[in-house]
Amino acid sequence: MSFELKKLPYDYDALEPHIDKMTMEIHHTKHHGAYTNNLNKAIEGTDLDKMAIEEILKNVSKHSPAVRNNGGGYYNHNLFWSIMSPRGGGKPFGEISKAIDKHFGSFDGFKEKFSNAAATRFGSGWAWLVDRQGELVIFSTPNQDNPLMDVSEIKGNPLLALDVWEHAYYLKYQNRRPDYINSFWHVVNWEEVENRFNLL
Ligand code: MN
Repeated sequence: MSFELKKLPYDYDALEPHIDKMTMEIHHTKHHGAYTNNLNKAIEGTDLDKMAIEEILKNVSKHSPAVRNNGGGYYNHNLFWSIMSPRGGGKPFGEISKAIDKHFGSFDGFKEKFSNAAATRFGSGWAWLVDRQGELVIFSTPNQDNPLMDVSEIKGNPLLALDVWEHAYYLKYQNRRPDYINSFWHVVNWEEVENRFNLL
């Protein structure tokens, strides 16, 4: 097995009350777990099983739909868990804060644009903040697609991601996706976003 489901860096109830324990536990063990298992099945015995996930996604158009869907699901959820924290929320700081102000006018302007991308993604998908060599862009993708994929409308290095599949919020918020999006801002791990921005 090439890829493994890693433990979360915090407890399942750590993001309460913004994201509830049962949602976190099912989301991680069942959904992320299934993407991981199905990715491993899809690459078993192929030359992909020695490659980094980023390398696989870069040329995903050459691979099967199972690799696209489950490879995306595997990568996206790893990122998602890392950019949330029980000590999160508040405002960004450092270089990412300056870049957000430069590109979106203010943190509030950024939040509004990102929230809108998340709210208006029809059906299942993700909202993204990506770095395109210093240029910050907000957009959304369907299903488990992401901006590392060659099939993505916009490509770049992901800094922040929000899962807007119903499985990410339905137990607590039912159909109220905007309420879930508002809650997300209370748990964003800006330290990790800042680290990603400075690394890339
Ligand atoms: Mn999900």
